Amino acid sequence: MGRLRVFGVGVASLSVAALSAACMSGGEADEKAAAARAKARNMAAAASEKKTETEVAAKAKANELGQIPVIMYHRIIKNPPPGDDRTPEQFRAELERLAKEDYVPITAAEYVTGKIGIPAGKHPVVLTFDDSSPSQLTLDGMGNPKPDTAVGILMDVAKKHPGFRPVATFYVIRDLFGMAKPEEQTQVLEWLKDHGFDIGNHTRDHLNLLGKPEKEVEEQIGAGQKLVTSLIKFSPVTLALPYGNQPHDKKWAMKGSGAGASYDFRGVFLAGYTPAPSPYTKDFDPVGIPRIRSKEKVGDCVKFCSTAWLDWLNANATDRFTSDGNASTVAFPKFKAPFVAAPYATRALPY
Ligand SMILES: [Zn+2]
Repeated sequence: MGRLRVFGVGVASLSVAALSAACMSGGEADEKAAAARAKARNMAAAASEKKTETEVAAKAKANELGQIPVIMYHRIIKNPPPGDDRTPEQFRAELERLAKEDYVPITAAEYVTGKIGIPAGKHPVVLTFDDSSPSQLTLDGMGNPKPDTAVGILMDVAKKHPGFRPVATFYVIRDLFGMAKPEEQTQVLEWLKDHGFDIGNHTRDHLNLLGKPEKEVEEQIGAGQKLVTSLIKFSPVTLALPYGNQPHDKKWAMKGSGAGASYDFRGVFLAGYTPAPSPYTKDFDPVGIPRIRSKEKVGDCVKFCSTAWLDWLNANATDRFTSDGNASTVAFPKFKAPFVAAPYATRALPY
């Protein structure tokens, strides 16, 4: 401890080395002095690196304790009935908006595990798709996504906006993109995995878990896990609750076992109504992470859906997550420091 403090003061280290040289043999003293100089150099280099990191964070107005929109989509279809489905045009327009406003997609798995590696000044957004409908992903005979599916549109927008990562999380149920044969189901899940997409658990039968006994809750979720793990080498790390409804004890959804499979999620997602907290803040609660419905400002969506929230995040930019471009630090304006979650304290970079 004492040594560290001495060497921290660059110049002092030399005189300390000189002093202790008096009671040592010549060679030993030289070695000690050289080690002290090397240590001082390393400390100085680390300090200057830290200073550069802080400057970069300040310049980017980094706020890695800010809020992140997690957008929830259902089907992407022409002439949708009233409700949560979107047309291909509406979906494309929302992605174009996100790209223009400096958002970069990350997956739900990356979000809950705090792996947010996007460039300085950019904002993460999590795109989530529920219910594994063929309108989200259908592959043609060559294994390419059909252009009017959600994945086809996302890939196309990403091509036109370099840096807009084509990634998303698919919360699948037994309908598995309308594929009946296990071989076809494997093809679609494998395609998602191979292209960097994330697959999440949405239970097997999409039952409302509210009021269901613990055994049934765990069986539905365990069976949802097996749906994926029996077809490909991939284990979902997040769950989206059907209808956003939590079971009687919300922890049942987080960890348990049923239907011959066990699960221990890093995050469980709801269906409404606000942007989500940064995974680096004390506000982050993995047992109930809010999502935002994709919709324009009509009805209760005047305030609580994607168009309204993206407007709000634009108007309140200091509340939004902005990256410093360095995935190994958690950068933020100094006064937000009391909110850093304990697991990330060692990575904190206040400025
Ligand atoms: Zn659903």
